[in-house]
Amino acid sequence: MVESVRASAEAAGARAITRVTLRIGALSGVVEHALRFGYEIVTRDTPLAGAALEIVTLPAVVACASCGTTSTLDGIQNLTCPACGAPAPRLIQGKELEISGIEIEVDEQPLAA
Ligand SMILES: [Zn+2]
Repeated sequence: MVESVRASAEAAGARAITRVTLRIGALSGVVEHALRFGYEIVTRDTPLAGAALEIVTLPAVVACASCGTTSTLDGIQNLTCPACGAPAPRLIQGKELEISGIEIEVDEQPLAA
């Protein structure tokens, strides 16, 4: 992941990376504080060192085959349709682990990537 951020930043002519935004789904199995801790370690001595890490958590969203309702789940313990109670509706959001934005600094002026 660090490598892909670094590659994109270099391609854009970045001098420094100031901020990285990640989107993680509620069901991705990623624990935010563990991710932050790991991020600090893997970015040490790289152009990402010191870049702010912004984490956006996406709630689990399910689509129910029985009643056709799309619902956002409050919790992830109970994977049933909140509208009709059918078990195991199809998950349409919640497993993400992706880089959604990188802010870089170039020689002329800051640029949002
Ligand atoms: Zn339903």
